[in-house]
Amino acid sequence: MRVSDDRYTRDRARLDLGLRLIRHEARTCTIRLWTGLSDDRIRKLYRSYVKDDDGRAVLRHRGRSPRRIAFFFRNAEVHFQAVQLASLFLMYELLGSGPRGIEGRYRVGSLEAGTMLCLAFEGYQELHSPALISFEHAWFLLAALARRVELGVARCESCGGMLLEDLLARRRVACEDCMPSWSGVRARHAPVAQGI
Ligand SMILES: [Zn+2]
Repeated sequence: MRVSDDRYTRDRARLDLGLRLIRHEARTCTIRLWTGLSDDRIRKLYRSYVKDDDGRAVLRHRGRSPRRIAFFFRNAEVHFQAVQLASLFLMYELLGSGPRGIEGRYRVGSLEAGTMLCLAFEGYQELHSPALISFEHAWFLLAALARRVELGVARCESCGGMLLEDLLARRRVACEDCMPSWSGVRARHAPVAQGI
């Protein structure tokens, strides 16, 4: 009996996470990746959610997932919000500090990690109105920081505040407080980043 109870609990957790991801307007491929649910079950879940909760429109995104890190550097406000989101990924232990800097600490497809990703995103949404970063971009940010090929976390060379760094651009790294006339990436510090 124990085994089937566990299986039921697991299945329930899978559906709960799927629903949570639908609410965050995640793409079907993202929901499949994190929950292991089939496209058909995701469709049914989506339909039942829309039927139960017609007060709020949930968009279904189609097409390609975000893949350009330039999005996080388009202006100071987006960069500021992305730094806060990165700090929340650290707080929820989706990222951690390793010998070579920030590294990924999650397994794709783990229900626990998927739930942490939702919690981090929900925390971010509570901090910002309007929140400029969609769930898909948040997930892209986490994956890009874990990959450490294009995007990294850096310190402002002047004051030590946390920033995102475009690893391929090799620009100087500074926040807007320290380099107000800088024409490159300008960013404000994220308060939650202090001490990380
Ligand atoms: Zn600074």
